[in-house]
Amino acid sequence: MMTESSPCPPFTAAYAPDDRVMAARLLETGRLRPDQDGRIDHTATRLIDAIRANDDRLGGIEDMLREFALSTKEGLALMVLAEALLRVPDARTADQFIEDKLGQGDFVHHETKSSAFLVNASAWALGMSARVIQPGETPEGTIGRLAKRLGVPAVRAATRQAMRLMGSHFVLGETIEAALARGQPQSGRAPRYSFDMLGEGARTATDAERYFNSYASAIEAIGRAADDRPLPDRPGISVKLSALHPRFEALSRGHVMTELVPRLIDLARRARAYDLNFTVDAEEADRLELSLDVIAAAFSDASLAGWNGFGLAVQAYQKRAEAVIDYADGLARALDRRMMVRLVKGAYWDTEIKRAQERGLDDYPVFSRKAMTDLNYIACAQKLLGLRPRLFPQFATHNALTVATVLELVGGDSGFEFQRLHGMGEALYTRLSEDRPALAYRTYAPVGSHRDLLAYLVRRLLENGANSSFVAVAADDAVPVATLLRRPADIIGSPDNARHPNIPLPRDLYQPRRANSHGVEFGERAALNGLLAAITAETTPVAAASLINGKTKAGTARQLVSPISDTIVVGTVVDATQEDANEAISAARAGFKSWSRTEVQTRAAILEGAANLLEQRRAHFVALLQHEGGKTLDDALSEVREAIDFCRYYAAEGRKLFGEGETMPGPTGESNVLRLRGRGVFIAISPWNFPLAIFAGQVTAALMAGNAVGATVDRLRGRSPIARGWRADIGAASGAGRRQTRRGFGGAS
Ligand SMILES: Cc1cc2nc3c(=O)[nH]c(=O)nc-3n(C[C@H](O)[C@H](O)[C@H](O)COP(=O)(O)OP(=O)(O)OC[C@H]3O[C@@H](n4cnc5c(N)ncnc54)[C@H](O)[C@@H]3O)c2cc1C
Repeated sequence: MMTESSPCPPFTAAYAPDDRVMAARLLETGRLRPDQDGRIDHTATRLIDAIRANDDRLGGIEDMLREFALSTKEGLALMVLAEALLRVPDARTADQFIEDKLGQGDFVHHETKSSAFLVNASAWALGMSARVIQPGETPEGTIGRLAKRLGVPAVRAATRQAMRLMGSHFVLGETIEAALARGQPQSGRAPRYSFDMLGEGARTATDAERYFNSYASAIEAIGRAADDRPLPDRPGISVKLSALHPRFEALSRGHVMTELVPRLIDLARRARAYDLNFTVDAEEADRLELSLDVIAAAFSDASLAGWNGFGLAVQAYQKRAEAVIDYADGLARALDRRMMVRLVKGAYWDTEIKRAQERGLDDYPVFSRKAMTDLNYIACAQKLLGLRPRLFPQFATHNALTVATVLELVGGDSGFEFQRLHGMGEALYTRLSEDRPALAYRTYAPVGSHRDLLAYLVRRLLENGANSSFVAVAADDAVPVATLLRRPADIIGSPDNARHPNIPLPRDLYQPRRANSHGVEFGERAALNGLLAAITAETTPVAAASLINGKTKAGTARQLVSPISDTIVVGTVVDATQEDANEAISAARAGFKSWSRTEVQTRAAILEGAANLLEQRRAHFVALLQHEGGKTLDDALSEVREAIDFCRYYAAEGRKLFGEGETMPGPTGESNVLRLRGRGVFIAISPWNFPLAIFAGQVTAALMAGNAVGATVDRLRGRSPIARGWRADIGAASGAGRRQTRRGFGGAS
């Protein structure tokens, strides 16, 4: 099958292969000869020296980023503040927010740690604010006195100023005209730029249109300002697909292909008119397959035939990076064109790890150790260099060792370029240009207002503040150069070390206590198609009726039609009667004693068995939630997973609270086995909008605590006769419920 108008089959590669398998291969090829290593050491050391000799360290920004790294409370508060100050329209709310956020950090103590100007600027602004909001504290020195006199509005202005300083460090200009003017050299050749119009993750069609227009007018302005040098020595523009469509996600593939592809082609044609470098940025891993579909369709458009400026970015932290390069090569080969390929390490690492955990995937799509990313970067670089001239490699990095290794592999100064971000890597690339003037490097220059800065700034702050980041470590004179020169292959050593020891697999996130429910990554075509096929196969209508002590109640069945389509028959239902409800409670009363004396381990095992059954029959329940509840696929799958997690969670909690030391006497002399007994019969009335997850949560909590349960889903928002009748009984049972709550099973009462 071909992707729409693409000449190649869709991209396929294992989404999250085993790190150890990959490491075994990468380690074999990742070591170079001793003579090569010697030259790499020499080059990298010179670059590190340049970074360290840079007195003002780019205006102190690195110091500030270390000081307020996002891993600190203060850094986080600063970011939340930035967000608030950018978005809160009225001053009073902004001031309240400042007071609230600054109360959470310890900014005052940041004042004296660094002498760099920017650190002082923000520590001053923030430290001062912290004092203003703690009127009980005796202010020391001028800053404190000033703060008292000026008050929060002045702090607001100072904090805004600190944010503005940070913004102007990373952004070349607020408009493309300003950026083009600032990018002009004082003398000599114009440097290569790739302009990036800030803005991503469009939320509405209006956002997407705004971003499209800003790309279009930027291309026009860049093109008009460009001189007549040929590609690749021409300016460029980088675009984010997520800025061009409000639903840039796998589940909206149909819309994306019909609406976003024409927009991308339109922009690419405009770039072609000026022969610019037009690069599609790489975003989150779950968007990779969709991105490549879009890129392939646009790249193959007849109107772009023969043009060599189109490019894409590849992230080396992704395990599929080499496969992406092969795919790009396949496209370029099929169309007999050149493609520009920017190799980066990847800017969304934290997000990728979190998302895979939240999705309960088998493994991560990205590496969990930085040295693996570095190793893969070099493998990708080797591949790219071998595919020249069909692919034009653009090595984007601020890491002196990576730069030196690439230089060793290239063995010349042409046929590729380096890239850096504006506001980063300046000293390194200045030294490189002095040492090898023939080398080309391009600066990626964000352009836009501070309102659109936040997402970009957060990535830069995470990158610069991380203790694994080269720029953060290289700027720290206390770290020996030898440490910075350690080769990724030596750091990893053996495939067994390929995974980070403190980052468990997503499925094992809660182990040893319980398994995480298994999810499906919609961005992985094969997994999504598998789920969809299983849901489609669920065609047998459901016959629902009350279940009392394992026996299905007979009665008059009525047909249930889906609220989303008259043509979908969900099945039949025998509605519960008041007699059924009474019978259920009687049965619960009768069964309570033996259940309450059932061993904790047995109860837990039963709940875990239920979780496993739900997981095995996942497609059935997803189909049911979609058909009967009208839920989206994402919501329906999340609800089934939540129900599974509830079963396992309460089983684990029960084991933890009651399962240990069962023979130890309790405070009143009774044994734990006795204290463990349930309190009686619980009723669980779950709402119509989460018929599976909340139902399961209520029931499993009460069951695990040793209670018997009568349960119903109230589809009439509290007005169903059974719910009403049972609620009337709660008065009698609520004492037990409250006691139970104190013992940790709040969900049951
Ligand atoms: C010109 C340019 C364009 C860019 N375009 C993009 C783009 O389109 N898409 C994008 O995602 N990024 C993009 N980036 C950002 C880029 O990904 C980061 O700047 C880059 O990762 C930093 O790498 P480094 O070699 O400079 O630094 P290093 O410090 O050597 O590497 C840091 C990187 O290592 C990786 N890493 C850190 N910890 C771990 C870990 N525990 N396990 C695995 N990997 C880890 C992460 O990728 C992190 O960013 C671009 C960068 C430049 C310079």
